[in-house]
Amino acid sequence: MFYQSTRDSSVRLTSAEAIVRGISPDGGLFAPEELPKLSLDDIVGYGGMSYAEAAADIFSRCLTDFTSAEIKNCVESAYCSGSFETENAMELKNLKKGLNILELWHGPTCAFKDMALQILPHLLTTSVRKTGTDKKVCVLVATSGDTGKAALEGFKDAPGAEILVFYPENGVSAMQKLQMITQSGSNVGVCAIKGNFDDAQTGVKKIFTDKDVAAKLSENGLVFSSANSINWGRLAPQIVYYIYSYSKLIACGEIKAGDCINVVVPTGNFGNILAAYYAKQMGVPVKKLICASNSNNVLTDFLRTGVYDRNRRFYTTISPSMDILMSSNLERLLWHLSGKNSDYIRSLFAELSETGRFEVSEDIKSQLCDLFWADFCTDAETVSAIRNTFESYSYTVDTHTGVAVGVYEKYLAATGDRTPVVIASTASPYKFPEAVLKALGSEKSFRDEFEMADELFKISGLAIPMALSELKTKPPRFTGSVEKSEMLGYVYSALNIK
Ligand SMILES: *Cc1c(COP(=O)(O)O)cnc(C)c1O
Repeated sequence: MFYQSTRDSSVRLTSAEAIVRGISPDGGLFAPEELPKLSLDDIVGYGGMSYAEAAADIFSRCLTDFTSAEIKNCVESAYCSGSFETENAMELKNLKKGLNILELWHGPTCAFKDMALQILPHLLTTSVRKTGTDKKVCVLVATSGDTGKAALEGFKDAPGAEILVFYPENGVSAMQKLQMITQSGSNVGVCAIKGNFDDAQTGVKKIFTDKDVAAKLSENGLVFSSANSINWGRLAPQIVYYIYSYSKLIACGEIKAGDCINVVVPTGNFGNILAAYYAKQMGVPVKKLICASNSNNVLTDFLRTGVYDRNRRFYTTISPSMDILMSSNLERLLWHLSGKNSDYIRSLFAELSETGRFEVSEDIKSQLCDLFWADFCTDAETVSAIRNTFESYSYTVDTHTGVAVGVYEKYLAATGDRTPVVIASTASPYKFPEAVLKALGSEKSFRDEFEMADELFKISGLAIPMALSELKTKPPRFTGSVEKSEMLGYVYSALNIK
């Protein structure tokens, strides 16, 4: 199986090469030329396997240049080493017939990013070895809150790797910030930037694709890679949980083999929902991919009209990990839907960078319309969705999942479609306790996030994750912040490059 740059079809790589490089020098992303097809029997079979076993089988079909021993080692290091608090990494909760929540936040940082970032360091270091580089990998990350911490946890003290994380100074929750600035490990760096997530992501992309910077790193025995969802090594692991969920719904009798499901995904950078699209292309019977946004609803408009227009106000919301106007992974989807037309994609994204806007062809519009349904929730609507869910099912969701639940309510009202649904739940409610408490009607005021967590426990009865309660006593290590123009300077100084 080979991977092509979405902007230049002559760039054609194995998965190991695509994972090491992260992004193509032409600015394109690496996407699979052909996806492997699973039979219904294959999928049903996963229902009797552990998460790690199913993941190994799915990886062996996507990462065809990896040996089965390499895959087994990566999968077991990630999913069988005790870093997830549940037996099968994820958890499916059935709230009532036809309504299923896919909890993806039982890893070390309590957000779904762990599902991929616990395995990415293993995929990356294996890939580096396979491609014969003797260089040390420097992983650069731009984060809207959750990726940064999950990447830091995945990469801390990994041999042959350094990791540097940039986050928007005022764009992450207090708990997210604490998680990052207290990070342990000898090979880690964390820096705030004066700007929003898009600034951080643009800055990182610029550093990545700068040839002079790459040459300077190389002289110093280093090579950049990416842990953002632009890296194929992030996306492949996310496909697994959609396939595995479907097999588990069959195994527990919620659906019959071959039945369609709908999938709702709270979306920011379009990585998670793209993984669901890939799962559908590989054979999972998904009827609609329901894309849920917050007030930064650029994707809602795009999926409805075919016009992507980022010239709009940026909102800071209670679901900060979705405060994004430039959804990178959309580029991969459009490449597939355009019939892998890299010239077309290059021109679309050139237009986007010049004018902040593009409009896709009629053919792509009609494919989008068949595949997706999209809507958004304001903060007030998200709060109601969290409250309704608690009142109806005694079940607590975080603010991001609240957006998904709220959009699903809108979908039901608009379509009446009762197809069984899987709603991706992307973070523990304890990562955003202030907003969740307000939604559940608590009017008290609190000294800090930890008091909030205690109160949330009293109301919800949901256990507080150890990874969050232990932050209370951890001293901050990384308190610096830089202008967005100074990101490269920070990288050089953190890596001791003159
Ligand atoms: C990252 C994140 C999202 C958005 O996922 P994308 O793959 O960027 O679309 C949603 N919810 C939470 C909690 C996240 O951390």
